[in-house]
Amino acid sequence: MPLLLFVLTALPAETFSQQRFPAPEFESGYELPEVTTPEPRPLTLEYGDVIVLLGFLLITSWLAIKKRSRQWILWLSVGALLYFGFWREGCICSVGSVQNMVLSLSDPAYAVSYTVIAFFMLPLIFSLSFGRVFCASACPLGVIQDLVIVRPVKVPVWVQKSLGMFPFVYLALALLYAATGTDFIICRYDPFVGIFRMGAEFHLIILGISFLLTGMFVARPYCRFVCPYGALLKVTSMFSKRHLSITPNQCIQCKLCADSCPFGAIDKPTPDKLVHDIKGRTGKFMLYAALIPLLMLVGGFVLSSSHVFLSKAHPDVYLAHLLINEPAVMEDPDNLDVQTFMGSDRTIDELVESAGTIQSGFYTGSWLTGAFIGLVAGLFLISQYIVRRRTDYEPNRGDCYSCGRCMKYCPVQK
Ligand code: SF4
Ligand code: SF4
Repeated sequence: MPLLLFVLTALPAETFSQQRFPAPEFESGYELPEVTTPEPRPLTLEYGDVIVLLGFLLITSWLAIKKRSRQWILWLSVGALLYFGFWREGCICSVGSVQNMVLSLSDPAYAVSYTVIAFFMLPLIFSLSFGRVFCASACPLGVIQDLVIVRPVKVPVWVQKSLGMFPFVYLALALLYAATGTDFIICRYDPFVGIFRMGAEFHLIILGISFLLTGMFVARPYCRFVCPYGALLKVTSMFSKRHLSITPNQCIQCKLCADSCPFGAIDKPTPDKLVHDIKGRTGKFMLYAALIPLLMLVGGFVLSSSHVFLSKAHPDVYLAHLLINEPAVMEDPDNLDVQTFMGSDRTIDELVESAGTIQSGFYTGSWLTGAFIGLVAGLFLISQYIVRRRTDYEPNRGDCYSCGRCMKYCPVQK
């Protein structure tokens, strides 16, 4: 599924653009009504959304850490799905807000609202304090997947870890496309927004249904293997100050919790053999750490070599390439993008100049993106050789969604 998303994101924007038709000429004298743009949502309601989000985060943190109630977390998550998912139709959404943030940094003309900043920051701040409580019961994308888990299978650890790198790759690409003003690909390929709005392009509905069907057996596939905001939450949660614990008191090593987590997010006690093999681990750690600059260089080189291809997702670059390579399209009355451009007051020279500027932005951006992907790959490699001594069963702070299932299974309840 991550591969499918990667292919979708790399295709030129026009691939999925909607077919537009010229307005018909009515013989009856009927005139088409003027196109109106809906009023923006009143500011008070926008701030209301922030307060609701804050409320969900506060209550979930309390339920996960103090009250330790899986049941109440579940009910709260249903509330979030109804409010942020079906009522607010998946927008405003923390998952996509990272794109607004980065575009506002790269383009001074783009202003980002306080609401978007709050939606971006609040889940990260809470995750830094209490773990991924946002994923537990405030993110409609996560909740809709959580509710369809029927018979979760165990994903082999190496598969889980390898696929777990994809959200970082997706995040890097999303930032590249947002920073160059090309597209907000996280929103464009959000698989669940069509379900929340009860209508979307056909391929998105299919994507959403596929994720939900897969999610019946591979729990939360979007969260674990795709979500770019989840990548950020994973990093912040690793450093969380307080985090949900499986047992409220002492772990009695009964292992009952071990199979309760559908996401494979419970770490087992570290085997002595692994703890004592310090020499072997240190050698490999040093080797892979030394390789990181090389991986970054290779990543930057490979991606920057594809910058022309990547940049074609930008409408200006796409159109400039089309007009230069296939000038006959200018005579094609059915090509509405070309006809719209020809009807505008921009010249081809201006279009080509704009495409050139965007392409050079893509060149720099794809170097940085590739280097970031190389860095992630390197950190992933060295992380295999960092062993923390654990004597009890514990939630993995990065991967745990604070859903509370394991707390329910633990026989120590006080
Ligand atoms: S991983 Fe992403 S989609 Fe899943 S719950 Fe967290 S923020 Fe939402
Ligand atoms: S709370 Fe427990 S069951 Fe839920 S994701 Fe975290 S470790 Fe897994």
